[in-house]
This record gives sequence, C-alpha cells and structure tokens, in this order.
Amino acid sequence: MVRSLLIIIIFLNVTLSFSQELRVGLLRTVKIRSAQFTSQKGSYTLLLDSLEIGIIEEGAFLSVELNGSKVSMHHDRLGNFIGDTIRLISNEDAAYMQLRSITPGSKTHHYRDNFEISSSSNRLQVINLVDMNNYLDGVIYSEGGGGRHLEYYKVQALMCRTYAMQNFRRHQKEGFSVCDGVHCQAYHNMLKKEGPISEAVRSTSGEVIVDKNNKTLTTYFHANCGGQTCDASYVWNTSVPYCETFIDTFCTKTWQATWTKKIEASKWFAFLKKEYGFPIEDPVMRKLASQFKQDQRMAFFIHPSLGIPLRDLRNEFRLKSTFFNVSLEGNMIVLEGRGFGHGVGLCQEGAMEMAKAGYSYRQIAHYYFNDVKIVDLDELNEFNEESDFQ
Ligand SMILES: [Zn+2]
Ligand SMILES: [Zn+2]
Repeated sequence: MVRSLLIIIIFLNVTLSFSQELRVGLLRTVKIRSAQFTSQKGSYTLLLDSLEIGIIEEGAFLSVELNGSKVSMHHDRLGNFIGDTIRLISNEDAAYMQLRSITPGSKTHHYRDNFEISSSSNRLQVINLVDMNNYLDGVIYSEGGGGRHLEYYKVQALMCRTYAMQNFRRHQKEGFSVCDGVHCQAYHNMLKKEGPISEAVRSTSGEVIVDKNNKTLTTYFHANCGGQTCDASYVWNTSVPYCETFIDTFCTKTWQATWTKKIEASKWFAFLKKEYGFPIEDPVMRKLASQFKQDQRMAFFIHPSLGIPLRDLRNEFRLKSTFFNVSLEGNMIVLEGRGFGHGVGLCQEGAMEMAKAGYSYRQIAHYYFNDVKIVDLDELNEFNEESDFQ
C-alpha cells in the first residue's frame, strides 16, 4: 500500500511540472476499441483507478478493451480487471512500450515513458505522458529527413518545443495537451537511436523562442522561400511583427528553389473571369493577365485594385508558391516560380544551408524571426502561472 501511494505521489508530481512532461493524445485518427501494449524495454507498474495491480515485465503484454464507459484489461499473469483509468508507469528512464490498435488494426508504434488509458466518446483514449525532450525526439524523428546538421536540428528542437508550449491547451477539453497528428505536430514514434536529434533536443533543453513581449512565437515555417520570405499579411491578412518579408540569400540554389508549371490558357482566363469578373475580352487586360512579373513578392495579381490575391491562384492551380511570373506560350500559360510553401517565417532549406555554413542555431533563429529572444521556459510567467493543468 505504501508503495502504491508513493507511485501515485510521484505520478502527480510529474504531471504538475508540465514544462517537463506533456500529455499527448495518441492514434487520434482511429477510434480504438481494443489495443495491446507490450513492454519492449524495462518493466511497467500497472495501476487501475490509482490502485497498484502489479508489474508488467519486459516482453509481457497487456490487452485493453473498451467496455461501455469503462475499460477492461487482461494480463496473462495478473488477470482481468475493469475500471475507469488504467495507468502504466515506467520503472526506468529508458523504458518504452509498443502500442498497437487491435480494433481497428493498426501498425505498431513505440513510445517512451508513461501511459493513461480511459474511455471517452465511445473510444479508448490513449494518452502518452511523455518527458518533453523524449516527445521532441519523436516529433523531429517523425518529420523524417535524417542526416541533417546538428545546428539545424537544434533550430527544429527550439521551434517544436515553442509550438508545444504555445499549443499546450489545444486539446484541454479532451483531457490532453496536444494530439499526435499534423493538427498539432506529427508524433508517430519515439526516436529509436540516439544521435544528433537527441543531442540537439537536450542541448537546447527548456529553450523556447519569444517575441519582444515575451510571448511564445507562432513558429511559422515552410520548405523554401524562393529567395524572399513572404509577409504574413499576404497569406493571412494579419501581419505578424516577427515575420516580415526579407531577402533570404541562403536558399536560392537548393532543390526546391524554383519550379515551372504550365496551365491551359483557357482555364487560367476562365478562372479569373468567373471568380473576379476579370475582363478577359479586353485585349489589353488579357495581355496583362498573361505577362505578370514579380521581382519582389507581391500579395495581389497584377494590381491590388483588382482584388485577386495570389494565394487564391496558388490554391486553385495547386502551385508550390505565390512567388511566380506568368508568360504565354501558344495556348499555354507558363508559370515560373520560386520556392515551396507559404514563405512565412523560417525557410527550412535556407536554415539547413546556414547550418552547413557554420551558423549557430541562435543565429539561424534570429535571421528568420525579427526581434525575438531565445529564453528558458522557467523565465516565462506565461507558463509558471498555468501549471495547474493536468
Ligand atoms: Zn491536435
Ligand atoms: Zn529561403
């Protein structure tokens, strides 16, 4: 009994200091009705409604199943139980579980640290109570793209941590902080091997980016800005002081720096006429619509007075960016574009080039975000006052 109480006290303490631990809702795209946990490394203490049931040894598995508004579970040695909340508490730092949804079937996933399983809206709710750094390892790993420079991974760690803190209450009503999908940040697996990702996460531990008012940044990023970042107001109509447009000299020779696309001229003109009443019958206007040039990034096609946002053209014709020139070849409109993505905030390919050229993660963050600071989470009142969320 004393041991059980001790575990509960430790557990509560960990959930309270949320700057170190995060509640992540797992496998949200499927409505899990039954699942299996297998301890892949280390043993886990199994709790049901805060009472200790026993130990799940390394290699052993636990089956869990939705049972009305409750959850039932089965373990070969410990037996069958039913209750409201199952908790799996790791007994060593390096412990991790394999999770697989049985109904419906899913791939296997691996996660570090602790778990909480309950019933919610006719599904099993599986929450990973994960150390922030272990979570960030998984997020950066899930983003893919190994073999990058350490300083680039540090920028990623800084941005992903900042994002997690800023969105800490995004799923509060559902009982966790962030989900594991792209709605928040993709987190599909733990990092399997230690290396530059884990080194980057730990060497920036606790650091986030804030604006001049000490508010965490919305960490906008994109693949390639095409040599000039985009002002946030061109994309979302509201300006973001730390995301103003500037010339980026680092990304112009990388693989997503330029693109070309051909579109049937009839489709191009028809869209302009239908959506904006553009007078395509007028030969002068028709010529303008097929000879457009952007030396600098613009928000609108041809002229703002026509009210045709470039972002609309990007959406309609599925263009890589809004940073393009237009010309006519026969009956085809030829778009010659620069960059990939909305262009606001950090340019990933530019940041990678900067890292390769020897710039530090701090220099990279300051290059892409205007008038910002890198601070330790403990220095921010914003979060210290809110540490009651569980
Ligand atoms: Zn989410
Ligand atoms: Zn760039």
